[in-house]
Amino acid sequence: MKSFNVREIREQFPALRQKVYDRNLIYFDNGATSQKPQMVLDAISTYYSKDNANIHRGVHYMSQKATTEFEEARKIIQTYIHAKKSEEVIFTKGTTDGINLVASSYGELLSSGDEILISAMEHHSNIVPWQLLCERKGLKLKVVPITKKGELDMEQFDLLLSDKTKLVAVTHISNTLGTINPVKTIIDKSHAAGAKVLIDGAQSIQHMPINVTELNCDFYVFSGHKVFGPTGIGVLYGKEELLERMPPYQGGGDMIAKVTFERTTYNELPFKFEAGTPHIAGGICLGEAFRFLHNLDADALQRHEKELTEYAQDLLDTFEGVQIIGEAKKKTSVVSFHVNGIHPFDIGTLLDKQGIAVRTGHHCTQPLMDFFGIPGTVRASFAFYNTKEEIDTFITAVDKSISLLR
Ligand SMILES: *Cc1c(COP(=O)(O)O)cnc(C)c1O
Repeated sequence: MKSFNVREIREQFPALRQKVYDRNLIYFDNGATSQKPQMVLDAISTYYSKDNANIHRGVHYMSQKATTEFEEARKIIQTYIHAKKSEEVIFTKGTTDGINLVASSYGELLSSGDEILISAMEHHSNIVPWQLLCERKGLKLKVVPITKKGELDMEQFDLLLSDKTKLVAVTHISNTLGTINPVKTIIDKSHAAGAKVLIDGAQSIQHMPINVTELNCDFYVFSGHKVFGPTGIGVLYGKEELLERMPPYQGGGDMIAKVTFERTTYNELPFKFEAGTPHIAGGICLGEAFRFLHNLDADALQRHEKELTEYAQDLLDTFEGVQIIGEAKKKTSVVSFHVNGIHPFDIGTLLDKQGIAVRTGHHCTQPLMDFFGIPGTVRASFAFYNTKEEIDTFITAVDKSISLLR
């Protein structure tokens, strides 16, 4: 039975039960990283206290157990994102690592004159790897602009997409604006033009059901730590036929079939892309995080997060001099704002003193800040364990902070 009860869910997140500066913690920095449920914390402890062993080649009991659990986690993730095969699920260090893998390896298949299309709302980690690749291979980077409301300008997208475009790399949900991009349309149009598509899922995997087969994306990347799992682990989903064609990313143990000094042959998928000892505990515990998510009612979760976002946004909208950054029709879980004449950092600092964790600054999207002509925003980003009462406290605290700073 799937359920969704915020009180019961909160019970399972010990980090939410603490006080900071003698006040109940309000954690609104989920866009940066999420808190971990007890199940995941227990799995970390169990792994290191009982099962710790290196995987894949061991003859002994512990190694085989660790291997089974690690590969089981891969299958849990495969099922959760509806990949056709577990071989299409590559463990990485996180979103950044996954994008760099694709830029480096898929990038080897591209040649001078080819184009890569990204958007103006990308995280730095979906900009810089492409810039490095373009420099290395003589490719051209093109950027789809956004509207003042913070939506992709799809007319411009149509104009920029051409038979020169070899890869389109866009975020599913903007970490700064909360905009949910029309990725299915982008994928279909890109394929029609002969381009492959990478979806940055760092902000979507934790907020909505993901079906990579239905989306028909070529790559989908995310970080474990934003989806209630550990840091240092993430996933790259890639279509098998593409991954087969791509050269290895890094060389080392585990990714080889046979090594001689003359010639090395590579291991099969997914191991071809997993050189060296992986983050074994991370993989196993990320599987556990997906087990946790799987037991929640996804529709109720989405409704709750949408309600939180709209509630916070409507209340903030009534403040004088407050500008909401990101007013897309379809958005979720992120409310970014700027207050005329007040630096976001000053508000963030005062909120912190009231026990409220938000993020201030450019959120790794500097070009986006330039577009809006502001130094940064105050960003409240919600998870399903947040409540309307927390938003009420937050709104009062914002009000008080603004009065103090005016
Ligand atoms: C957080 C984030 C990233 C980078 O994730 P890392 O875990 O730092 O690798 C990339 N894209 C988006 C949209 C993000 O929110």
